[in-house]
Amino acid sequence: MIEEDSTIRRMSETLASQVAAGEVVERPASVVKELVENSIDAQARAIRVEITRGGIASIKVQDDGAGMSRADLALCLERHATSKLTTYEDLFNIRQMGFRGEALPSIASVAQMSITTRRRQDIEGFRLESNGGELTEIRSAGCPPGTEIEVRELFYNTPVRRKFLKSEDTEAGHVEQQLRLHALAFPDIRFTFIRDGGTIFDTAATTDLRHRIAEFFGRDNAQKLLRIRPTTGMGIRVEGYLMPLTDARRNRRLQYIYLNSRPIEDKMLTRAVRDGYGGFPTGLQPGYFLYLEVEPALVDVNVHPAKREVRFRRPADITSAVMDAVSATLTDHARGETTSLVPAKPDTPSGGTPASVPPPDEEASPIRPALRLVVEPQQQELGIPAQPSPSSPAQGPVAPAGRPAEDSDTPAFRHLGNIHGQYALFENAEGLVLLSMRAARERIVFERIVSANKSSIPSQQLLTPAMVELDTRDVGLVKDLQPLFLQAGFRVQFFGERTLRVDSLPIFLSLDKVDDFIAELIEAFSNGETKLKRSRDPYELFAIRLAQRYVMREDMTAWLHHPGQLLHELLHCEIPYCTPRGKPTMIPLSINEIQRRFQAL
Ligand code: ADP
Ligand code: MG
Repeated sequence: MIEEDSTIRRMSETLASQVAAGEVVERPASVVKELVENSIDAQARAIRVEITRGGIASIKVQDDGAGMSRADLALCLERHATSKLTTYEDLFNIRQMGFRGEALPSIASVAQMSITTRRRQDIEGFRLESNGGELTEIRSAGCPPGTEIEVRELFYNTPVRRKFLKSEDTEAGHVEQQLRLHALAFPDIRFTFIRDGGTIFDTAATTDLRHRIAEFFGRDNAQKLLRIRPTTGMGIRVEGYLMPLTDARRNRRLQYIYLNSRPIEDKMLTRAVRDGYGGFPTGLQPGYFLYLEVEPALVDVNVHPAKREVRFRRPADITSAVMDAVSATLTDHARGETTSLVPAKPDTPSGGTPASVPPPDEEASPIRPALRLVVEPQQQELGIPAQPSPSSPAQGPVAPAGRPAEDSDTPAFRHLGNIHGQYALFENAEGLVLLSMRAARERIVFERIVSANKSSIPSQQLLTPAMVELDTRDVGLVKDLQPLFLQAGFRVQFFGERTLRVDSLPIFLSLDKVDDFIAELIEAFSNGETKLKRSRDPYELFAIRLAQRYVMREDMTAWLHHPGQLLHELLHCEIPYCTPRGKPTMIPLSINEIQRRFQAL
């Protein structure tokens, strides 16, 4: 017999559910999520959630939805029992929140649960209790139509999980956020949240999403919302509201994206929104409530057990739909009510932001393949005086080390004027050249950082050291970054476990909010948009981010008066035509091209 010697065993139903619960049930908020989704699927008009002790002691979710028959109640705690999915094809046409038939058995396996339910057409209701997955008999119960599920002593039988729970306040906070996510997806459902006997919110059903937003984020914010003109195409519909650019903030508190009524987290879409705003000042976050309706066939929600992540089948269509919707909304609004886009006095939350929010930068411009711009060095002399750099008063012209900073080898450019406070227009023998000041600065600053790569960059002492509080999760990352900071001329050291002390800066940077800047830089690395460890050249990566972040903060108006110098410094760079991230710094328009456009050729 094979059995005698086998080490492979079938899991008991309870054990299998407990394993599955690991994916679905992480904390009280995940229980709330699953129960509320079931209530939504049951067409509830009102959902009431009550928790005690952060939801660890008890979570009660009550709805006025369809309810269950006695037979359904008997089945609903069985694994893979669902009323929502019958065939594999259904999976590609999911309209419901749930479909895996896993949530109830998973929750039941790690807690004590009672379900009381009644269908409207039934004269009586039914009640079932479960203890770690062990069911009692179903009994008749007098109750209103709908379903009430109570979950007590979460993880009582899986002590390791229970240990991972945070404080009651933290867990309650997660529950509240989870409910807010649902409530913003379904303004037509009334949501009530009660914590330890006190009502935290009780939002009336409304047809106007803005009312709901106002309940959670205040009327002031709600009044500023710009409505997205719904756009439809390619099976994708984009709706919702944006906060104007001038209301950018330092946190992501006002960022909500829903896909077919499901709150999702998706880097690609977040990026698309930012791009729609036309790039975004460092460290600042746009506010948005974005609702995407996508044909279910175009999206796979089954990649994550809790369905927080999705996979798109035509990602490019979705991102461009989002980007277009955002940028069209902002453009419309700028045309219609220009006044509210003028940064009168942007609020400066949590300790100081740049004085004003710069206009969208040139980030979105396409990369031009042929930028044959830097003309032969022996051309005639340029009449551009080398002025002191506005960003480094103590310094001469900012040219990469080891290169002469004279003008003699710079080709002849005549400055014609500036456009839009961001671009300088030059003329030379070949035609016109448009210079993006910000892109140019990014290249120049980058090369200054890397050209001193071998030695280290001289530092300037700060009058008072800057202290940066680190997120615990970033401590390891910052240890990796520390040598790079030092090499670049930042003297940074740990001051205790979680504080970074910055004593000096590279000589050519001038920064007023050093702590903010360092925090932003660290955030850029920790966001995972850059993989420091896997990078071929970590210092180069560091320099790219450093230059990008620094220049985003820089006030370009100072350079408006010294465009010649900017061009001069740019032309002395190793690779002048593009930023270290590959975006153009200059766009040439040759006489030939101009004549061709006028159809003169
Ligand atoms: P799923 O939602 O994936 O179907 P669940 O384990 O969450 O799986 O729920 C199992 C089934 O129990 C659901 O398909 C539904 O038929 C029933 N159910 C659960 N909660 C409710 C509720 N609040 N009202 C009505 N039926 C419910
Ligand atoms: Mg469910």
